[in-house]
Amino acid sequence: MAITTSEIGKQGLRCRGPRQETLLRMLENTLSHAERPDDLIVYAGLAKVARDHAALEKIVRALTEMEEDETLVIQSGKPVGVFPTGTRAPLVLMANSNLVGRWATSEHFYELEKRGLIAWGGYTAGDWQYIGSQGIVQGTYQTLVAVADEHFGGDLAGRLMVTAGLGGMGGAQPLATVMAGGVALCVEVDADRIKRRVDSGYLERGTESLDEALAWAREAMDAKRPASIGLLGNAAEVLPALRERGVVPDVVTDQTAAHDLRYGYVPVGMSPSEAADLRDTDPDELARRARASIATHVECMLAWQDAGSVVFEYGNNLRAQAAENGVDAFRIPIFVERYIRPLFCRGLGPFRWVATSGEQADLDLIDDMVVREFPDNPLAQRWIPIARESVRQAGLPSRISWLAHGERAKLALLVNAAVRIGELRGPVAFTRDHLDPGGVSQPLRETENMPDGSDAVSDWPLLNALLNAGSGADLVAIHAGGGGYAGYMQSAGVTLIADGTAAADDRITAALTADTGIGIMRYADAGYETAADAVRSSGLRWFG
Ligand code: NAD
Repeated sequence: MAITTSEIGKQGLRCRGPRQETLLRMLENTLSHAERPDDLIVYAGLAKVARDHAALEKIVRALTEMEEDETLVIQSGKPVGVFPTGTRAPLVLMANSNLVGRWATSEHFYELEKRGLIAWGGYTAGDWQYIGSQGIVQGTYQTLVAVADEHFGGDLAGRLMVTAGLGGMGGAQPLATVMAGGVALCVEVDADRIKRRVDSGYLERGTESLDEALAWAREAMDAKRPASIGLLGNAAEVLPALRERGVVPDVVTDQTAAHDLRYGYVPVGMSPSEAADLRDTDPDELARRARASIATHVECMLAWQDAGSVVFEYGNNLRAQAAENGVDAFRIPIFVERYIRPLFCRGLGPFRWVATSGEQADLDLIDDMVVREFPDNPLAQRWIPIARESVRQAGLPSRISWLAHGERAKLALLVNAAVRIGELRGPVAFTRDHLDPGGVSQPLRETENMPDGSDAVSDWPLLNALLNAGSGADLVAIHAGGGGYAGYMQSAGVTLIADGTAAADDRITAALTADTGIGIMRYADAGYETAADAVRSSGLRWFG
């Protein structure tokens, strides 16, 4: 069984090479952030690091025993076999929760999951790339900065954001809001989650009283002081109660795991444990009640939108669930199209790195490198100092920062050189989110409303994965949605390892050029002129 503590980096070499050891540490690190470690569930209600405990043990054994010129193949979190593939091939290839189109439904997924035939890995849990809430803090922060720029003259001071869900990813919302200068009121139905976020420093304080929460929020707004408040309650009850009191928030969104009606959204009138009991006895009834509550929740968001609030969905399928109950939910925009896609068109997305030595000094050195090397990237220039000050590290020292096509390969090569001369004390793993230019098709999120209508074409992430594997990336994964996301998405994940070798230079150059290269071509192909400009200045051959 893998260790699950932040001591991961202090382990000696247990594998036959540093690349295998790095991926093992990435796996352990992901598990160390799990919301429900006993079930191997990392976040989003059901996103798992491995199929089950037996599969996890076999994966760990395979990583410790395999040679550098072999490839471990994993099917939905279960190891299949190890193949001799050569030194330039990926060490690990994965396919997670892919179902043939006609059968790609939640019901079919749950049935297969129950029979132990499939597992969902979320975006970054199943391919061992999760770095805790920091990963999502930056994306949320970036979105809020774009919201502030577009609607509030660049400043969220004195502005109230109402949201719900303080889980694995949603727990980043209060910290991101504070970083952006606003006041976050976060409704959460599970008292333990509120406590967990307060303990981790992501949330300032919590209360069970709506009156107290509102008084704290008003006081902070009047003082134009950033603040974050957790309020125990059900979003489908608390939001209407706020409306009844005449509250019109400046910004409204949601990060309950509404995409999953069995594991992700607690219906009105139930505690989380009562919902879990009903899941065991009558899952369809639980889903029915959850959807009805989501409908109420979304109706309230729509009313606020009509009253002038800036409302957007943050990618949890809340609108689709409410629409099933007849709510006109797609009047609410998705955050990606509105605030993030312009960045994707320039090849900018959430790049991340993990210092597998476990040494904070390694992370500090790379932070300095980013600030020094990318003076023309305002996102990184603004973010790195804020993250250094405000993001409490958990697990292996890691950082996320939005870097563009070209910048990612440049940074990874510099890091590889620093590993080579011993300036960095251990290998560094580079990954990215699937919320990224090249790696995803999700017609209700990342690729909603593409100008050429290609929202649901999943050739692009599949090509991205093939290209990454052909480039020799260390880990490549293709994913489809599981649970409530079944049938909704296709994506590709990639990990590169800087272990100081010349071979790593080659892999990094090829794969990190390919990864965002195919992304800017995808957006250029869809008709975005900024993406076409990015492709032209990249020097890549393009037939557009
Ligand atoms: P999670 O399962 O870890 O947490 C969900 C939280 O919502 C839990 O703490 C739960 O108690 C709470 N909750 C459930 N029902 C509630 C209700 N009725 N009222 C108040 N609280 C309630 O999930 P997570 O990892 O935090 O992710 C949340 C959702 O956001 C997922 O759907 C995820 O896919 C989505 N998300 C999408 C993106 C993206 O688009 N890139 C990024 C982050 C999160």
